[in-house]
Amino acid sequence: MQVIRKPASRLLTKPRTVDIVKVSDPSGSIPKVQEEMIAMNVEIMTLSGTQRTLDATTVADLRSHVRGPVLTAADAGYDAARQIWNAMIDKRPALIVRCAGTADVLEAVRFAATHEVLTSVRGGGHNVAGTAVCDGGLMIDLSLMKGIRVDSVARTAWAQPGLLWQEFDHETQAFGLATTGGVVGETGIAGLTLGGGVGWLVRKYGLTCDNLLAADIVTADGQLRHATPEENGELFWALRGGGGNFGVVTAFHYRLHSVSTVLAGLVVHPRSAARDVICFHRDFVASAPEELTSRVGLRTAPDGQPVVALALCYCGDLGERVLRPLREFGSPLIDDIKPIPYTAMQGMFDPAFPWGNRNYWKSSFLRALPDAAVAAVVEQADQAKSPLSSVVLEYYGGAASRIAADATAFSHRAATFNCLILAQWRDAAEDSIHIGWARDGWEAVRPWSNGAAYMNALGNDEGVQAVRDAYGANYPRLAALKAKFDPMNLFRLNQNIAPAA
Ligand SMILES: Cc1cc2nc3c(=O)[nH]c(=O)nc-3n(C[C@H](O)[C@H](O)[C@H](O)COP(=O)(O)OP(=O)(O)OC[C@H]3O[C@@H](n4cnc5c(N)ncnc54)[C@H](O)[C@@H]3O)c2cc1C
Repeated sequence: MQVIRKPASRLLTKPRTVDIVKVSDPSGSIPKVQEEMIAMNVEIMTLSGTQRTLDATTVADLRSHVRGPVLTAADAGYDAARQIWNAMIDKRPALIVRCAGTADVLEAVRFAATHEVLTSVRGGGHNVAGTAVCDGGLMIDLSLMKGIRVDSVARTAWAQPGLLWQEFDHETQAFGLATTGGVVGETGIAGLTLGGGVGWLVRKYGLTCDNLLAADIVTADGQLRHATPEENGELFWALRGGGGNFGVVTAFHYRLHSVSTVLAGLVVHPRSAARDVICFHRDFVASAPEELTSRVGLRTAPDGQPVVALALCYCGDLGERVLRPLREFGSPLIDDIKPIPYTAMQGMFDPAFPWGNRNYWKSSFLRALPDAAVAAVVEQADQAKSPLSSVVLEYYGGAASRIAADATAFSHRAATFNCLILAQWRDAAEDSIHIGWARDGWEAVRPWSNGAAYMNALGNDEGVQAVRDAYGANYPRLAALKAKFDPMNLFRLNQNIAPAA
């Protein structure tokens, strides 16, 4: 074992040609070049499932060509870098490339393709399936890439893939702007956008991917491509719902909207009122204005009481009048609906989904939500095995549903509700209990399911058919594009689209 010291001049060697680098401000987050790294052979997993030895020179060469740290299990920071949100996932990559910018991503992808190594891509590290990290392979970690440039006149933003929604919102809200983003602040913008993206603005402004104007992506051939409707249009189509299958996105260009104060918060009822509340909400939202995005959650309140909560976010005028029926229905325990900053609504559920808990999720798009389905949902919630677990009915429709199912890779435009069964607990000894509860819940709503799940909520144990169904009718087109842009299936640690034969 020997210690390699990086000469400062190394940063200037081997300049790369990067055609399009739209985002250059790293917000001070680019890591310092490692002063000392341990040079050693690395055993790495290949795409074919065999082990390959990368000699110390090969690893040192990779290190010399990237600006961010390249970590092995022997390096400080390795364990922190491999951790992701779901504590069920405990994987140990052979190498972690902590990319500082697009040039590092190019280097990492070329390295992965050349050596045919098993490769995972990490954005925010929030995916419940844990596909951001791999055992024995190469992890391309984008979490240090947090640059963002907001154009307040054009109402657009270029953003790097390591940003979390709370960071993105912080920057855009400085100009009173926002785009549809995840409802938990620590979720990464990258994985969420590529899988569709549902949030408090979804009914008014569509899915996150509907607000994507362009993307820069490093494809499996090691090229940086610019994707817009006009340039690499098929690739751009695939990025809006096709997940991480087509390469590593180094920058996202979003359309922003004028959003600042929203009329929003929770209306909480005792669980005994759940059926009535859910039915009332179902009937109400069917004709509600698109300014209202809402969901129903069945969970345990901090005081231990099982409750049903309406989470409402109204973005527009006349909200007081529109929301009144929802607030006046029944006898709520709590009604904290009030004008609040958009960022306050975006952070409202953060405490309920902390890092470090064990999680197992199931999702099911529902064709309809008749009373019998409501009864099944409530019964399942009543049987939750953990006070941290919940059942959520997310209501879609609105702007997201006016886009044709084949206009983007995200196909489930006609779904009304997404039923999410979210098992969350702390003790590993209880895994089978909570996983069993979530699976039972999924079975219970199956009669009303359209047969598909939200791709971004799929676990790591779904069968091939469940993954196909999540992409729906767009799967064959996606598979053909996968064959074109990633024939070796380098990007396979995701909800994978097999390259068409
Ligand atoms: C608590 C919680 C709340 C959530 N809330 C919402 C919500 O409100 N709305 C919603 O739509 N979804 C939500 N999700 C689901 C979320 O969309 C997915 O978990 C998503 O994958 C998270 O993105 P990430 O970058 O953090 O993922 P990561 O775990 O980092 O990555 C997941 C996968 O995305 C791909 N990927 C990530 N970055 C890139 C990149 N730059 N280029 C190419 N591929 C990439 C890779 O295939 C990777 O395996 C939530 C998830 C959690 C855990």
